[in-house]
Amino acid sequence: MCETIVLKNGWVIDPEKKNIVKEDVYIVDGKFASLEEIDSDHKTEIDVEGSYVSPGFIDMHVHVFEAKTELGINADKVGIDQGVTTIVDAGSSGIDDYSSFRKTIIEPNQTEVLSFINISRKGLCNGLSELADMDELTTLDELQEILANEKNIVGLKARMSASVVKDNGIKPLEYARKLANEANLPIMVHIGNAPPEITEILPLLTKGDIVTHAFHGKKGGILSKDDRLINEAFEAIERGVLFDVGHGTSSFSFQTMKKYKEKYQYPFSTSTDIYIGNYDKPVGSLMTTMSKLLAIGYSLEEVVASVTLRPKLALALAEQGSLQHGTRADVTVFKIVNQDETLIDSHGEQMKVNKLMVPHLTLRQGKVVFESK
Ligand SMILES: [Zn+2]
Repeated sequence: MCETIVLKNGWVIDPEKKNIVKEDVYIVDGKFASLEEIDSDHKTEIDVEGSYVSPGFIDMHVHVFEAKTELGINADKVGIDQGVTTIVDAGSSGIDDYSSFRKTIIEPNQTEVLSFINISRKGLCNGLSELADMDELTTLDELQEILANEKNIVGLKARMSASVVKDNGIKPLEYARKLANEANLPIMVHIGNAPPEITEILPLLTKGDIVTHAFHGKKGGILSKDDRLINEAFEAIERGVLFDVGHGTSSFSFQTMKKYKEKYQYPFSTSTDIYIGNYDKPVGSLMTTMSKLLAIGYSLEEVVASVTLRPKLALALAEQGSLQHGTRADVTVFKIVNQDETLIDSHGEQMKVNKLMVPHLTLRQGKVVFESK
């Protein structure tokens, strides 16, 4: 007996094919299947007429270490309840607290929780200046030991702004570069207020690395005064570095995003940097963040690719972020509702929108784990 689910009549968004087609989606025993494989005697049909059906959304930048960090928010609250099937905790935990992170966050939540492990042993569990003391950084031996035992670590996190590194400038990132090369992992780098300067940070990044908060509106960002990419940013993109939204409390600017969109079409990823202090405002959710990008003028296909295909490629995820036959059926079903709303960026700039993405159904491994009321 095979357990079969058919999602009927939805608008299916396939980010790999870059199209939206009205068709049914078949799931057999938790994996995407074809019509020929379904077991008609054990079939559950779910009518999703009027909704969009996408590979499960991936939010590459969240903070969900509830027990050990002040900013941690509940994983399922920002995960499956908001139509996000995979979240990546961006550096809340370092090696010291990682087993507790696995036991209290990864294991009990229904949302898949992956992590960029902080290069500081204590992560964000001991204040927010975790790279101020070079002696606190994880050694290569320590890193390799934890990688041998933990399966959900997909990269390293280095927060490169003045308040985090204090007098160390660029040194923590030079150190992270060596670790990443040896361990063959991408680095997610947070950019913010200098020092270090962005012109020191970007040249250290290689193909596969991710710059989060890329579209912030602070001084010293990716755009020069004439609204063109600075050379270092242009060269980083050309090398295969991925720019990521990482909305956060103070790191997403409508103006920066609009200026970037006017001149450049490079793929980017969308993430929230959601935590307890910005859940209400200005971030809201991944879909709220995506609604802002729609209002700025990005297409639905592009915005969906930014939370599926882009993270899939960046993190070399085999099962997530696609509708490919035989892969794990994590699915986000959402609606676009016509509703007038004023959304804000991290600077409080308002934008009137009339379309909002809202979660409808979330499936993990072919099972419905969230349903909107
Ligand atoms: Zn963050």
